Amino acid sequence: MAEASTSSTTMASQSLPPGMVIGPDGKPCKICTSSRDWRRFTKVKKVVNQDGTKSGNSTAAAAAAAPVAAVAVATQAAQDEITPRPENCPPDVEQLGRATWTFLHTTAAYYPEKPTPNQRANMLSLLRSLPVLYPCSWCATHLGENMKANPPDVSGRLGLSRWLCERHNEVNDRLGKPRFDCSWSKLDERWKDGPAD
Ligand code: FAD
Repeated sequence: MAEASTSSTTMASQSLPPGMVIGPDGKPCKICTSSRDWRRFTKVKKVVNQDGTKSGNSTAAAAAAAPVAAVAVATQAAQDEITPRPENCPPDVEQLGRATWTFLHTTAAYYPEKPTPNQRANMLSLLRSLPVLYPCSWCATHLGENMKANPPDVSGRLGLSRWLCERHNEVNDRLGKPRFDCSWSKLDERWKDGPAD
C-alpha cells in the first residue's frame, strides 16, 4: 500500500501525516485510510492552505506551515483520544474491513459441507468479485494478487473457512497484526459456535 511518504498532488510530502494512503490516481485515498489518519490529514491540509493563501508560494508555504501543521496533528490526535467517532460517519478502511471479514467468515462458517455445483459457482463468483469491486483499491489489488497465487477453495465449508483464514492472515501479516489460528475448532468457535461454557 502506498503511504504518505510519496508526494501528493496537493501538499508537500513532509506535511502528510503518517498512515495517510495515496490512491492509484496519486491523490489521498479516503476509503484506504483510517478515519483517525484522515482527520489529521484534513487538519494539516487546512493549515497549509491557509498559509499558502498568505504567501502565494506553495513550496515556501508548506515549509513555513510545517511546525503549525505538526501542532494541528498533535491536537487532532488528542481530540481523537477523547471524542468517540460519530455512528453515522461513513466507514473507513478499518470499519469496512471488520464488516467485510465478519460477513465472509460467517458466510464460510455456514456454507454447506457438500455444496451443490450452483452453490460453488455462486461462492466463486462472490469471491472473485472482491478484487474488482472492493472500495479500498489497495486492499483489492493485494487480495487479487493473493487470490491468483492461492485460488479459492469452495469445495466445502471447512476448506473455504481455512482458505479465508489464510487470506485474512496475509493481510494481518502485512499490517503487523497477530495471526489467527486457522484450525477448524478455533474458526468454528470464533465464527459459529462461540466459546464453550
Ligand atoms: P480484523 O482484521 O478486521 O478482524 C476482525 C476479527 O476477525 C478479529 O477480531 C478476529 O477475531 C478475527 N480474525 C482475525 N484474523 C482472522 C483470520 N485470519 N481468520 C479468521 N478470523 C480472523 N487494511 C489496510 O489497512 N490495508 C489493507 O491492505 C487491507 N486489506 C484488506 C483486504 C481485505 C479483503 C479486507 C476484507 C480488509 C482489508 N483491510 C486492510 C482491513 C483490515 O484487514 C482490518 O479489517 C482492519 O484493519 C480492522 O482490523 P481489526 O484489528 O479490527 O480486525
